[in-house]
Amino acid sequence: MPLYEFRCPDCGPFEQSHPMTAVPAATGCIECDGPAPRRVSAPRLGHLRSPEMALLDRTARSAHEPDTVSAPPPRRRSTPMSTDPRHRTLPRP
Ligand SMILES: [Zn+2]
Repeated sequence: MPLYEFRCPDCGPFEQSHPMTAVPAATGCIECDGPAPRRVSAPRLGHLRSPEMALLDRTARSAHEPDTVSAPPPRRRSTPMSTDPRHRTLPRP
């Protein structure tokens, strides 16, 4: 069931889960049980833990808080160097 946002005038916003076919226009506040009308909010239909959402979050965060580095990454050889002296006589590309 999706989450819907409600707002109590005294206690503030809160979320409740309701079936999509029976969403009330107002519900009781979870703290004071007073009337809390439903707020119009953006749907949260995405998979919050999916790699795509993580990428979107990281991309949005990098616009405001870019990662900083203190040094360039260490150099790595793509292939291990052989210490066998016979390999030095082989033709090179
Ligand atoms: Zn309340």
